Amino acid sequence: MSKKMRIKRGDTVQVITGAREDKGKRGEVIRVMPKENRIVVQGVNMRKKHQRQFQAEGRTMNPGIIEFEGSFDISNVMLVCPKCNQTTRVGVRRDEDGLPFRVCRSCGEDID
Ligand SMILES: [Zn+2]
Repeated sequence: MSKKMRIKRGDTVQVITGAREDKGKRGEVIRVMPKENRIVVQGVNMRKKHQRQFQAEGRTMNPGIIEFEGSFDISNVMLVCPKCNQTTRVGVRRDEDGLPFRVCRSCGEDID
């Protein structure tokens, strides 16, 4: 199993390296971009975008500043195990049908 598959959408991760304001933050993975090796995590790497006035569904949206999460390198985070609540490396085992599943290296429990 590739490293990319070790973190999935919906996982909780903790930022281990990166911008000071983000270090240590935990959040839910809202997007995984395997080709780029990048992820988007709720509340992490917040960016601002200036929005011009525009029309949407017949309504005029006011201009302003929109905050959104920017993507960053997947290696900046560690998975938070849903069982033991620790940051952990992810192991991979195979079930009796040969299908891989993820295992917490800290507590040994299945993650999926
Ligand atoms: Zn665990």
